[in-house]
Amino acid sequence: MVDHGTRIEFFGGLGVIGGSKVCVSTPRARVVFDCGSDIAAAPDLFRPPVVPRAGRELHDLVATGQTRWIPGVFDPVQRPGSVPDDPDAPHRPDKPDHKELALFVSHAHVDHDGLLGHLRDGLAVHASPETVELHRALALAGRGPTGRAVRWESVTGPVTVGDLTVELVPVDHDVPGACAILVHTPDGLVAYTGDINFHRGGGLASRQFVDRARRADVLLSEATTLSSDHETQIPTEAEILGRFTEVCTRPGLQLVSLYERDLDRVRRWLAAARDHGRRVVWPGAIATVLAASGLDDILTWDRTRPQSSTHHTAVAQAVRAGLDLRQVSLTEVKGSPDRFVVQPDPDDPAAMLDLPIGATTVWVHSQGEPLGPFMPNWGPFTDWLEHLQIATVQAGSSGHASPADLQEMVERIDPQVLFPFHGFRPERLVGPRTTVLASYGVQYHLDGSSDKPLTR
Ligand SMILES: [Zn+2]
Repeated sequence: MVDHGTRIEFFGGLGVIGGSKVCVSTPRARVVFDCGSDIAAAPDLFRPPVVPRAGRELHDLVATGQTRWIPGVFDPVQRPGSVPDDPDAPHRPDKPDHKELALFVSHAHVDHDGLLGHLRDGLAVHASPETVELHRALALAGRGPTGRAVRWESVTGPVTVGDLTVELVPVDHDVPGACAILVHTPDGLVAYTGDINFHRGGGLASRQFVDRARRADVLLSEATTLSSDHETQIPTEAEILGRFTEVCTRPGLQLVSLYERDLDRVRRWLAAARDHGRRVVWPGAIATVLAASGLDDILTWDRTRPQSSTHHTAVAQAVRAGLDLRQVSLTEVKGSPDRFVVQPDPDDPAAMLDLPIGATTVWVHSQGEPLGPFMPNWGPFTDWLEHLQIATVQAGSSGHASPADLQEMVERIDPQVLFPFHGFRPERLVGPRTTVLASYGVQYHLDGSSDKPLTR
């Protein structure tokens, strides 16, 4: 077979959940997909009270080995002295061997988009229209990636980058606009799942992606749920909605932590709360994201309830932007706790002291922050729940395919070469033909073989 020089190189996401960054290149062009925050190694040098230094965020992550530098993609200002500038980096269109470069993002999750504020000048980010829209809402609320504003490019059809053609293909996940990515190269088809499942929305979109990716030369697949040693049953959306609805029928104030980027679930739960005579009160920044995403009748606190300044700033922005954001006072909520469900600020658990917590109050946890014991705000938050004697009702479900669904997907796609990644146990996902556990600093051919490791 003639080799046209298509290569695949990984810059993140190997042996960890998240941080996926992959480059597919030919002698003429480069396509990079996803640019997420990496999962910190233990110990996390940037855990509270250490905060990233403003203007040095990416620099410090690269300098400590937590993030890998992608030549030509990142802002040169953030490059530590230890990283050599790539003479072939495609930010010099004057050079005769200049390569075209384009960056794509599969979906709006921090482990796929968290570093987008540190791109070199002029580099646009291609994503689905829903991803772009959600990011505009996050930016308005001050909840987007740190760093500079992102230059978005909405993708509605195939994008040509030199001799590569890229398509975003919708999949089921737990955020609007989530896509898989197909890269048509001179040496064959490279398919990337992004984050995917087959249990949300009946898995209809994901199954269409499987059809499009069938017999791909290369499949890059997420392997999130294979990280766990326990076989966990994934509840349906109807089951977890039922748990929330049941809580809404109990007397007194109830608490919830919903993941605000999961707009479909938020819409359904808001409607269920309304059917039971309750309204959900959100912290200001989350309310702003939801209102800016087009959700109606979103409720937040008025100035009578102390919130951290980020929430007040977000609400002020929302009001300035003319968004339909309703406000409620603490007095009103205290007067009729049966009519409300409150989403607490995960970083300000002491503020629960203001609320009319009663013996029947529970906390419904549905993928909102604090996410789990791996997050620094989990310990303090759950200590406060215990202190206030608030029981927890679990009502979440993973946005990722179950191990069985992942294996079935891989068999149906039947790729020549499978690269499992984005999971702590990628070796558990095995393709029907060749499976390659990738390493950093290696350029892979589409048949899974590799050139000798690079020196950088
Ligand atoms: Zn995701």
